[in-house]
Amino acid sequence: MKIAVARETRAGEMRVAMVPELVGKLTGLGYDVAVEPGAGLHALISDEEYAAAGAVLDDAALDGADAVVSVQPLATDQIRRLPAGAATISFLPTGQEREVVTALRDAGVTSFAMELVPRISRAQAMDALSSQALVSGYRCAVVAAGMLRRFFPLNMTAAGTVPPAQVVVLGAGVAGLQAIATAKRLGAVVKAYDVRAAAAEEIRSVGAQAIDLELDTLEGAGGYAREMTEERAALQMERLTPYVAAADALITTAAVPGRRAPLLVTRAMVEQMSPGSVVVDLAAESGGNVEGAVAGEVVRIGNAQVWGGANVPSQMPGPASRLYAQNIVNIVTLMTRAATDGPDGREAGAFAPDFDDEIVIGSCVTHDGAIRHEPTRVALE
Ligand code: NAD
Repeated sequence: MKIAVARETRAGEMRVAMVPELVGKLTGLGYDVAVEPGAGLHALISDEEYAAAGAVLDDAALDGADAVVSVQPLATDQIRRLPAGAATISFLPTGQEREVVTALRDAGVTSFAMELVPRISRAQAMDALSSQALVSGYRCAVVAAGMLRRFFPLNMTAAGTVPPAQVVVLGAGVAGLQAIATAKRLGAVVKAYDVRAAAAEEIRSVGAQAIDLELDTLEGAGGYAREMTEERAALQMERLTPYVAAADALITTAAVPGRRAPLLVTRAMVEQMSPGSVVVDLAAESGGNVEGAVAGEVVRIGNAQVWGGANVPSQMPGPASRLYAQNIVNIVTLMTRAATDGPDGREAGAFAPDFDDEIVIGSCVTHDGAIRHEPTRVALE
């Protein structure tokens, strides 16, 4: 059976779903691996490296593929090249990708969305949201350090003492904790806030001070946050204002699954920051934690330069691709049934997802000409 690695078609997407060092994991399962030429170029991976790892470079890689792996959803013309019964594995934000979901359903393609993989212990190795959030969190911290025209660490020298930068991180999930740990490693003094009760301990465990706003915590299902009421949001903003005003760098990473990102910092709060301060809003693409932040741009608000994140993992395409590819190998392995019908009697993997497995069911969007993901089906049909 053939697994194809698609060349990404979306503007700004620099990652690739498979890396040469992991091709052997797929061939080891018994698959033929076909890669569209140029698929890895943005991540600085050449066609020759894929070929040396055992993949076939083929402009027609998608034709007749049993499964296609990509980072972003395939384009509709790519979907039309797939045989009915083929599978796709990619990120697939169904709420924003109605045309793609419909095309997948109509083509009889079985599609899996990496963001729908349930966040259970058994699926941790397939959790691409976490692997990419790790990249984003690191990137946010180094962007803030790079934009700030002063040191992050304390410097005590013969020429005098330079105090460390004050960094505030809002949202301490996977990305936020990585941003905190990175800013700490660079020597900044870091304070952080998150609405989940468990977050305070996690913040302290990576060396930062947990900000206590003396507000109720907001636990939702599956270890995620719940949405705030308007009243609580106003109180949170009021109590965060002095922390934001005192920060040299503010990094925001807050999200609530299935909702637009919560607004945590108003323009008026940013206007209280000192000259030269910087704001990095990882959530700019999904509504923004900071009022006025624009995804993919640096805008000035008051004294601060405000950086809005846009496809942040793509800004470090090499490591982001490596981590994502490992997630892909792990999910493909889960969906592979070993069979002994390969050439020369060798074990050949059969791509055969078990629809009794909660990871398979949970991540499936379309199958057998129908939309299987209930919220998407209700929204589309
Ligand atoms: P996420 O990207 O949905 O949210 C990022 C953070 O924003 C969360 O920590 C959330 O609490 C926070 N947030 C939301 N509203 C906020 C507000 N108004 N003010 C401040 N912060 C706010 O979440 P994530 O980072 O993907 O994951 C969150 C948590 O889920 C993790 O820390 C972990 O505990 C858990 N998790 C579990 C698994 C697993 O079991 N496999 C995998 C990943 C994450």
